[in-house]
Amino acid sequence: MTVTSSPMPPAFTNDDFAARMRRVVSAAAENDLAGVIVTPGPDLVWLIGYRPTAITERLTMLVLSPDNDPTLLVPILERPDAEAAEGAGSVSLVDWEDGTDPYEVAGLLLRPDGEFGISDSAWAMHLLGLQRALPRTRYASLTECLPMMRAVKDDNELMRLAAAGAAADSTYGEIVQRHFADRRETEVAADLTDLLREFGHEQVDFTVVGSGPNGAKPHHEAGDRVIEPGDAVVLDFGGLRFGYGSDTTRTVCVGEPTSEIREVHEIVRLAQQAGVDAVRPGVTCQEVDRAARKVIRDAGYGEQFIHRTGHGIGVTTHEPPYMVEGEEQPLVPGMCFSVEPGIYLAGRFGVRIEDIVTVTEDGGRRLNNTNHGLRIVE
Ligand code: ZN
Ligand code: ZN
Ligand code: ZN
Repeated sequence: MTVTSSPMPPAFTNDDFAARMRRVVSAAAENDLAGVIVTPGPDLVWLIGYRPTAITERLTMLVLSPDNDPTLLVPILERPDAEAAEGAGSVSLVDWEDGTDPYEVAGLLLRPDGEFGISDSAWAMHLLGLQRALPRTRYASLTECLPMMRAVKDDNELMRLAAAGAAADSTYGEIVQRHFADRRETEVAADLTDLLREFGHEQVDFTVVGSGPNGAKPHHEAGDRVIEPGDAVVLDFGGLRFGYGSDTTRTVCVGEPTSEIREVHEIVRLAQQAGVDAVRPGVTCQEVDRAARKVIRDAGYGEQFIHRTGHGIGVTTHEPPYMVEGEEQPLVPGMCFSVEPGIYLAGRFGVRIEDIVTVTEDGGRRLNNTNHGLRIVE
């Protein structure tokens, strides 16, 4: 087995984190926000590289505003962990002790009559605490007010996404050489998990193995079904490598495919190609969806393509921008997202093909590069 030897990306520096925070502060100001409040989760990881070991009821929050330097409020017992975070050098740390009111401390960092964007995953008790401490403040969903906050990746992030994609491709190259017939979906899924880790993923997020009729359920993970000769099998897997996501899908066939499986697979392949071909700066997200969907609709399977064409990827495996009808956000170089059309024939089989694509100056570049043809496995 050849282990993917992607070069180790350089560590993010305090300058990288400081630049991200400056961008967020100016985007907040443009949106008439007094600032942004970030609680533990993907945004905090992206902004300062901090992932508390346990997310508890004790308040941890980062405040970004034009009024103060970036400030991270932490429970005093977690201060050493916060100080060890990758981007800790670019924030001021303020701690609070059990027995005191953390919302009073937080209130000192917030404009008392301001409107703030707040993490969607912030606990209700924290938001209620802030509202009690500062009754004239107002709050909005951070994902709604700054949806593209993490969408445009820098070179270091792109290097990590490419490394994750290469590891997922190596995983596919290996899994198709293994046996499928007479094994349970869960056994193939366990192989995918092992391979993703062997090829450098530190976290595996999903290993979909949808054989035969299970392939027609896009969010089927893997079950007890024994894979049979003649099955189409949807393989959709990914996780995090160097902190950034992979997500790729190929549909294989166990032994000789029927002409119908071949035909449906070819339509999805052409739809996926059309979606990727549509990618270039300035094109809207919905146009990528439309390009892929048109191929499937023209072939008569429009009703069987039952999800959006794609989603962004970064420090999580599902995030904005979404390639979906109604999303008028234009593409910008550095954005990364999936293009993953599918056709699902209920009770029979499904086909999906997915690559991560990044927007370049003049088009789109795939971060997954395994063969798109219908692969026959044993
Ligand atoms: Zn999904
Ligand atoms: Zn996927
Ligand atoms: Zn996906």
